[in-house]
Amino acid sequence: MAVVRKGGEEYKMARYTGPSCRLCRRLGDKLMLKGERCSTPKCPVEKRNTPPGGRPTTRRRRGISDRGLQLREKQKVRFSYGVLERQFRRFFAEAKKSPSATGENLLILLERRLDNVVYRLGFADSRAQARQIVGHGHININDRKTDIPSCLVKSGDVIKWREASKKTEYYKRVAEEVEGKIIPNWLSLDKESMTGKVLNLPGKDDIEAGFSQQAIVAYYSR
Ligand code: SF4
Repeated sequence: MAVVRKGGEEYKMARYTGPSCRLCRRLGDKLMLKGERCSTPKCPVEKRNTPPGGRPTTRRRRGISDRGLQLREKQKVRFSYGVLERQFRRFFAEAKKSPSATGENLLILLERRLDNVVYRLGFADSRAQARQIVGHGHININDRKTDIPSCLVKSGDVIKWREASKKTEYYKRVAEEVEGKIIPNWLSLDKESMTGKVLNLPGKDDIEAGFSQQAIVAYYSR
């Protein structure tokens, strides 16, 4: 499979396939891209928060321009949801069409992605893992196989594991571990049958805090 390098990032097909921790180190922030490992002392940002490459003494961050800060916020969201630039721009254009705040709409649209919903339901430790589960065809929406991670869920949608996938070791482990997971208010999960439901679309209280929506909008408004 062809591997393309763009701006130091590795892409295979339409996704980033380079080391996840490198993205966090580049932005100097924990993006929680690797599930459990992110909450352990093994996290490289916890151990030594320096950008990749160069010696520690040469790595001190210089003053960053407004444009640089806006880019950084945009990249934080993009890397967190695992979306490539072209697709992210499409989401932004879609978010602009709605009368309410664009930044908020953008984050709501990203929350509605099927890979994110699979992650939020506790079926995966990270969005990257959720993307793989969806891509491998383990998930049904409303009893129809859906293997497109970027597919947007709607209110009332029912998200289930396919019957054949329930025989896998991975499913058995997830079904055991899902008990302790916290599910967002806009979703529900029947832990017995491992069936999720979209109760309503996520609202402004359901989107992830910690991203500057204003900076992202400013970045694309130039
Ligand atoms: Fe980021 Fe997680 Fe890697 Fe830490 S362990 S650098 S939070 S992906």
